[in-house]
Amino acid sequence: MRLLIVSNRLPVALTHRSGEFFLEKSAGGLVSGLSDYLASLEKTASDISDYGWLGWPGISVKKRHREVVREKINSNFKAEPVFLSQKLMDKVYLGFCNKTIWPLFHYFPTYTVYDREYWEQYKRVNQIFRDELLSVIRSDDIIWIHDYHLMLLPELLREKVANPIGFFLHIPFPTYEIFRLLPDESRCGILNGLLGSDLIGFHTHDYSQYFLRCVLRILGHEHHMGSIGMPGRVVRVDTFPMGIDYKKFNRFITTDAQPGIPSNDCQRMVLSVDRLDYSKGILNRLKGFEMFLQQNPEWHGKVCLSMVVVPSRTGVDSYQEIKRGLDELVGYINGAYGNLDWMPVIYQYKSLPHETLISLYRSCDVALLTPLRDGMNLVAKEYVASRNDKKGVLILSEFTGAVKELSESIIVNSNSVDEIASAIVQALEMPDDEQIRRNEAMQHRLERYDVTRWATDFVGALNEIREVSEYTFTKKYLSREKRERLVNEYQNAEKRLIIVNYDGTLVPLTDEPDRARPSNELLELIQGIKEQTSPDIVILSGRSKEDLQKWIGDMPVSLTAENGSWLREFGSECWTQLKPLTGEWKKDILPILETYTDRLPGASIREKEYSISWHYHKSDIEQSSFLAKELYDHLVNITATIDIQVFHGSKVLEISSSGINKGDLARHWLNNRNYDFILAIGAGWSDELLFRSLPGNAWSVKVGMTHTEAKYIISNQQKVITLLEMLKK
Ligand code: UDP
Repeated sequence: MRLLIVSNRLPVALTHRSGEFFLEKSAGGLVSGLSDYLASLEKTASDISDYGWLGWPGISVKKRHREVVREKINSNFKAEPVFLSQKLMDKVYLGFCNKTIWPLFHYFPTYTVYDREYWEQYKRVNQIFRDELLSVIRSDDIIWIHDYHLMLLPELLREKVANPIGFFLHIPFPTYEIFRLLPDESRCGILNGLLGSDLIGFHTHDYSQYFLRCVLRILGHEHHMGSIGMPGRVVRVDTFPMGIDYKKFNRFITTDAQPGIPSNDCQRMVLSVDRLDYSKGILNRLKGFEMFLQQNPEWHGKVCLSMVVVPSRTGVDSYQEIKRGLDELVGYINGAYGNLDWMPVIYQYKSLPHETLISLYRSCDVALLTPLRDGMNLVAKEYVASRNDKKGVLILSEFTGAVKELSESIIVNSNSVDEIASAIVQALEMPDDEQIRRNEAMQHRLERYDVTRWATDFVGALNEIREVSEYTFTKKYLSREKRERLVNEYQNAEKRLIIVNYDGTLVPLTDEPDRARPSNELLELIQGIKEQTSPDIVILSGRSKEDLQKWIGDMPVSLTAENGSWLREFGSECWTQLKPLTGEWKKDILPILETYTDRLPGASIREKEYSISWHYHKSDIEQSSFLAKELYDHLVNITATIDIQVFHGSKVLEISSSGINKGDLARHWLNNRNYDFILAIGAGWSDELLFRSLPGNAWSVKVGMTHTEAKYIISNQQKVITLLEMLKK
């Protein structure tokens, strides 16, 4: 198997000078992290024998130079370039990516620009990536797509290939109320785009939950423990907090003087490192430091803030504004508090290599990292990992993904300048043994869940979910070949039985239960099958016997109403009972159902002789999914004292007298009749009991791509009709 990584930028940067192309390895967090994982694949036995990387090389390349560049990249790195013009890339990167997604997903709706043109360009770039991928993809490739630049790519790719596709989002996924601010086309497009994956990974449990909620509210897909059933496959949503190369940071040997670290005479150093970005809260941090100086004159001359700001997105106006604000505030603090011997803020506006950063991490007593919102924040992890003396205090914003694993840090609300100021005092006064105790716990965690473990877990989970999907859907799918075999067996049999569920199987599910009357075509189909091939046909339903009598009472079939409470055998006019039942329990259950109906607008109760159904097709999807589960639990709890059974169907709860289920019904029809062909088709949860009770040679078919005890699955209700039509002649 080959692991193919897809990201906006390649791990190498291409430059063009004096007519020649040069390649340089880039150093971003994702690149260095994944490079370590990829290198480890070569050393260890793994299913993945090879890897490749696909992305933009960083500059426009004229058509006539493309083959030379491709060749150069291919031969030096295991990478494939996606050629895009600088103009298009700028538009997308500076447009939809950085003016729409970045601010919105970091909870800055006021900075968010909604522009149709941006969206169109974003779609185009994702399509170009898809086309490039298609030209290099092999059937044994596992695809791992990274980050917010390529959120449409999984779906675009899924339409064309069957390879496993994983997606990881490196930034936060926002709550529903924020995400829904996107126009309908882009919010649905992004969710559907991501759902093209088999596995979608986020840094924290919260981001995963927010995503699942958006999928439910906007697209209406429910999930079960993070798995969403899509036609023909399962999409798994899970949490994989990205780690760092712990050993590299912890074991690195630093020389005494690293170039790039300004010398200073301060006794104590506070460190701040980030890219220049409004999400990093750099201005608030400076204000917090200023308040600390104002409130604690005893520390004047003894503490410096060493602030590294890495230039970023220099073409975006709002970034230039932050830079100006930052320069001014640093100037003001140094002017107001500093003197000839002491400069409170040492400010570097540049990117430092890792070796220098590690020295800085080790020489600073405190790391002050207070983003307003950050998907993870690797710097925080790197600071803790680098401290091989186990000392140093981390002050970390509660709005970072990293805080979940670094709970022994001093956690602050980065909006509060006061909290930042007092955290600095607490950090400077923290005794050594407490620093060591806190850091040991965090280091232990970071060492165990390092970047290699992160990537191994993700790729492992991707393979696992594919196996589940393949088993459930590829092996069980009632393909044309299997359908033909079924028909063949049917035709060659002498005594045939067809048991078929009504709602969702013979007729589509509707929001209005009364509209599920059988069409004339359906009645003719049933009549035709009976006349031409004379099987025994049983129709199972949760509906009342009056409804069934009225709708299909003239058909040459056996009927079951109220989930088995009533039977009408073929050839007989009367409805009978398998066991004597009572409806006494209804008076205890109805008040409970009424309370839930009052709480859920759109819900309704249908009372039958020996059963009651509680429908919620018309209710708010999220509220109803929650309340229906609560009601189900409530009812199941009282089955210990009241003799009832509860089934959770599609937007309906069915409560009936206990003692009869679809398994008992199947046994009733199978008894002593020696069928040599049995076909059972069902769509609901209660049909599982039916499938389970059938003999080994029976054909059991479940409608819908979900987990089932049935031997086969078909994708939708319409396919049931097509299958039944095949039985006619
Ligand atoms: N970094 C660097 N040089 C610098 C400052 C930062 O190489 O001068 C690296 C840092 O080591 C970390 C990454 O840039 O690996 C920043 O990742 P983080 O998650 O903290 O923030 P992001 O920039 O991805 O939002």
